[in-house]
Amino acid sequence: MAESAPSGFLSPQNPKDTTRFLVSDLCSILETYLDPDQISEVYRAYLFGAEAHEGQMRQSGEPYIYHPIAVAKTLAEMRMDHHSLMAAILHDVIEDTATAKEQLEREFGAEVAELVDGVSKLTHLHFESKAEAQAENFRKMMLAMVRDVRVMMVKLADRLHNMRTVGALRPDKRRRIARETLEIYAPIAQRLGMNAMRRELELLGFRAYWPLRYAILELAVQRARGHRKEVLHRIEASVVNRLEEAGVVARVIGREKNLYSIYKKMREKGVAFADVFDVYAIRMIVEDVDTCYRCLGIMHNLYKPVPGRFKDYIAIPKANGYQSLHTTLFGPHGIPLEIQIRTAEMDHVAESGIAAHWLYKSGDRHSATAQARAREWMKTVLEMQQSAGDSIEFLENIKVDLFPDEVYVFTPKGDIMELPRGATPVDFAYAVHSDVGNSCVAAKIDRQLAPLSTQLESGQAVEVITAPNARPNPAWLGFVVTGKARANIRHHLKSMKEDEAVALGRRLLEKALIPLGQSLDTVPEAQVQALLAEFGIADVERLFEDIGLGTRMAPLIARRLVGDEEPAAGGKRTPLAIRGTEGMVVSFAKCCYPIPGDPIVGVMSTGRGMVIHREGCRNVAEFRGQPDKWVPLEWSAEVDREFPASVRVQSENQRGVLATLASKIASMDANIENVAFEERDSTTTTITFLLSVRDRRHLARIIRSIRNTPAVMKIWRMRG
Ligand code: MN
Repeated sequence: MAESAPSGFLSPQNPKDTTRFLVSDLCSILETYLDPDQISEVYRAYLFGAEAHEGQMRQSGEPYIYHPIAVAKTLAEMRMDHHSLMAAILHDVIEDTATAKEQLEREFGAEVAELVDGVSKLTHLHFESKAEAQAENFRKMMLAMVRDVRVMMVKLADRLHNMRTVGALRPDKRRRIARETLEIYAPIAQRLGMNAMRRELELLGFRAYWPLRYAILELAVQRARGHRKEVLHRIEASVVNRLEEAGVVARVIGREKNLYSIYKKMREKGVAFADVFDVYAIRMIVEDVDTCYRCLGIMHNLYKPVPGRFKDYIAIPKANGYQSLHTTLFGPHGIPLEIQIRTAEMDHVAESGIAAHWLYKSGDRHSATAQARAREWMKTVLEMQQSAGDSIEFLENIKVDLFPDEVYVFTPKGDIMELPRGATPVDFAYAVHSDVGNSCVAAKIDRQLAPLSTQLESGQAVEVITAPNARPNPAWLGFVVTGKARANIRHHLKSMKEDEAVALGRRLLEKALIPLGQSLDTVPEAQVQALLAEFGIADVERLFEDIGLGTRMAPLIARRLVGDEEPAAGGKRTPLAIRGTEGMVVSFAKCCYPIPGDPIVGVMSTGRGMVIHREGCRNVAEFRGQPDKWVPLEWSAEVDREFPASVRVQSENQRGVLATLASKIASMDANIENVAFEERDSTTTTITFLLSVRDRRHLARIIRSIRNTPAVMKIWRMRG
C-alpha cells in the first residue's frame, strides 16, 4: 500500500535518487497539455540552456543540463504554464554562466527573464539559522522578494531536485542544505498548500540531516508494516464491502505516515514509536461533497468514532485551503483507525495547493497573469473561510507573504529585520537603536556606500555608519517612513533647536543690555523674577528661548529689566558676532546669500529665530527703522565653514563653456551646488551658479578667474 502522492513525487517510504531524465521525456509530458508552439518554445529554451551549461558538470559527475530538465519535469507534472517551464530550464544560466538577464529578455521575452532573475536572487540568500523566529523571518523575506509566485514554485522544484541528488555533496554542505530545506523550503511549500512537495522535501531533508535516525525509523516501519499487513487488509476489505453495500463509489487508499511526521510527533509529544505508528489510516476519494458526508455516516456506523476526533475541514477549511473530513474510529482489537474523506478536487488542491490554479485548460490561452492566479487562489481560500464563518486571521499571513507590505533586510550580524515598504537606511538605523539613528552619517547596502534616502529591498544587507558628533538632519523627515524614526528626529531637532534658541537669546539680551550700561550679572534678580511672573514664564531659560526664537524682542526685554521704559535714544548698539554655527535658529537669507566679509544685519522673525541678510538687501529695508527687530551683526574672526553665493555669467553660446567654467571653479577649491541655464539668443547664454565659498576674498578670486575666460562676456554676483 502506497501513499497517494501524485505521480512524480517520490513515495515517502521509498525516496531514491532519480535517474537521468531526458528532454524527450519532458516533451512527452508536455504533449499531454501544451500546444505545439508552446512546446517548441520550451525546447528552444532547452537548446539555449544546454549550450550555456556546455561543459559544466554537477557534483554527481553528470552533465549540468540534466538538473534544469529535472526541475522542469517536476513543474510539468504540476501542469505549470510554458513560461514557468522555460524559466525552470534556464534557472541557473544567469547564476552559473556568462548569460545576462538582457540576453534572456531578447531571446525569450521579459516574462521568462523576470522569472529567471527572481530565482537567481533567491539563490543568493543564505540562511544561517539562529532561532525559530529567525527562520520565520527568513521565510517571509523570501516570499517578500517574490513578485511572481511562480518564481517560488521554480525555486521549490529546484530545491526538490537538489535534495533528491544531495548524496553527491560533501557532508557539511549536505547538512546545511538539508537544514535549510526543513526550516525554510518545506514550510513555504506548506504555506502555499503544496503538500506533496512539502512531504517529499521534509523526508529528503530528514534523511540528509539525520541519516542515522532516518535509518532506524525506516527499519522500525518495515518491521511494523510486516506485522500489520494482514490486519490492514482485513480492515480495508470490510470498509470497501460496507461502501459497496451502500452503493457508494469511492477510491479507498490505505496510508502510512511519512517518516518525518512520525519523527516529529515522537519528538514533540514525547511518545513511543508504537503509539505513533500503530495508527491505521485510510483515505477515501469520492465524487461529491454529499457523498463525503454519507461516507462519514457509513464509517461511524461500521466502527465506533473516537469522541472529539471528528473534524469537518470541508465546512471549515484549513488556512491554506485544505478541505477534507477527518475522523478516528475504534478499529478491530481497539486499534485506532484514522479516516480522511474528500472529493477528487479537494484531493488535488490538498496535494498541489496554489499550483492547482495553474492547471492548463484548453481554450485558456489568454489566461490570467501569475499574480491574478495567486490572487484567485487566495480568494478561493478566503471565500471558503468566510462561508465557514471562521476567523480570517490566516489571511493576514498569506497576504503578507504574497503581496508584502514589508521588506526584510539583514543586519551586519546576520539577523533579519522587518521594516515597512519604502523604508530607508535611516529607518533601519532608528529601528536598531535611537542612538544609532541620531548619529548616523552614511550607509552601506550590500557593502556599497548608498545615500541615506535609498529605499531598501528585501534580501539586502544593511550597515549604518555613525559618527560621535553627528546629528539628525531635518531633510531626513522628507524620506523616512517609520513612526519611530520620524518621532526621534522631530524630538531631537526640537531639543536641539531649543538649546540653540536659548544660547542665541542669551547673547542677544547681553548685547541689548550693553547700551543701557548693564549686563545679565548686574540686573537685579527681583527685576528678573517680576518680569518672569508678568510673562507667566517658569524660568529665565524659557525667556532666553523666546528671545532666540524671535517671539520676544531683546531690546524691549533689556529696557524692562533695567526699569527704563524709554527707548535709548542714539545709544550705540554693539554688534553680535556670527560664526555660522549657531544652528537652526540662525539662517542665511536665500535672496542675497551673505558671506563672510559682507556687511550683514539680522532680522528677528517670530518663532523662527534670526535671518541674516546682506545690509544692502532690499528685503530688509523696511526693518531699518525697527530697532526691536533689527539686530546689528558682524562676522566673527573664527568662521570656519562654507556659505552659498550666487553668481551669474553671461557668455558666448559655444560648446564646452560649462565644462571650462566648472573646471575653473573646481580648481579654485569651490563646489558648485547648483547650475541654471538660460539661452538669451543664438549667440549668448546666461548661466547662474550657486557656489559654496569661504568668504568674499575666495569669491573674488573665483570671479576674476572666470572673467579671464575668453568666452565670458560678463560676470557678476547676485544681490537680493
Ligand atoms: Mn538549480
